[in-house]
Amino acid sequence: MPRKPKIIIADFIADELKIEKNILGDFAEIVALNAVNETELVGKIEDADAIILYHCISLGKDSIQRLKQCKLILRAGVGIDNVDLTFARSCGIPVANIPDYGSEDVADTAIGMMLALTRGISLLNSRLQNNIGDWSYLQAKPLSRLRNKILGIIGLGRIGTATALRAKSFGMNVIFYDPYKPDGFDKALGIGRCYDLSELLTKVEILTLHCPLTRETHHLINRESLKNLPMGSYLINTSRGNVVDTSAIPTAIETGRLSGAAFDVLGLEPPLGDVLVDAWRNPSHPAFHKVLINPHSAFYSEEGLEEIRVKGIQACIRAIQRTEIRNVVN
Ligand code: NAD
Repeated sequence: MPRKPKIIIADFIADELKIEKNILGDFAEIVALNAVNETELVGKIEDADAIILYHCISLGKDSIQRLKQCKLILRAGVGIDNVDLTFARSCGIPVANIPDYGSEDVADTAIGMMLALTRGISLLNSRLQNNIGDWSYLQAKPLSRLRNKILGIIGLGRIGTATALRAKSFGMNVIFYDPYKPDGFDKALGIGRCYDLSELLTKVEILTLHCPLTRETHHLINRESLKNLPMGSYLINTSRGNVVDTSAIPTAIETGRLSGAAFDVLGLEPPLGDVLVDAWRNPSHPAFHKVLINPHSAFYSEEGLEEIRVKGIQACIRAIQRTEIRNVVN
């Protein structure tokens, strides 16, 4: 009897794999390793016909070169910064992602964070819960109306566009910076465009990040670039942690450069020795009330999670059957 193909889910998923097994039937064997470290993969992935990788670990050269018959590395998510794409290609292994499973959920989170910050919702909740100050809106003073506020978007892809459309319904003035977007998206969406990052930064009142993490965007928002923002701006990051140098944030909050900031993502998750996290946990630092941090959860909805698992398995089946693989990124 011919050997059954083997699909390995490297990380993140730790349940009984009902969704995957329902689709696979007898077609292939599937194993979930739930690894939290790449070294845990040694001896367990070598005979995989396809590997599904979420966001908890990376897949570098050492792991990829041990793959004997892998027909696909499927990044179950959007960001592709945790796979050595070039090396995988040099080994003849395609890497594909699932770009569309959570675009709306991430955009909803970015907008939710924006509302929580700019309407004083999280600040008032935090101060009152900690028994600080009067039971009064005055604790959040001054707040201003969202209509006509300038929202700057860095990276006008799927999530950036979904965020722009939502912000427009609040009557905001949306502008974006994305050097890779051809002309015309500003016209199609009825928003503004800046071809220069520092021009965008000087104009915005609220800045939301939706670019990928690349060599170019690593620490794009840092001590220096933050100085371009008008005093009292807001920053929201749901893209990748290392797009922001978070060590600059506590001071930006203290000096009032930022009135508030929200992070769904951090450079290291869970964080370890992160000065922003220390300030956010410190009741005597202003970041305690003015910063929101979530555990990389913007992508999450039950519907999105099911979609990503279904699409992931379908992609593996196509790769093993040598039919067309969608969303190849290397
Ligand atoms: P996308 O590829 O559709 O859009 C990214 C956009 O960024 C593209 O238009 C690209 O041209 C632009 N870009 C690239 N380099 C840039 C630069 N130097 N400056 C400005 N713009 C630049 O991706 P998407 O689906 O919209 O996702 C955006 C990012 O969100 C992903 O890369 C991923 O890192 C992140 N993400 C986070 C979560 C989460 O749970 N927090 C979930 C999904 C995606």
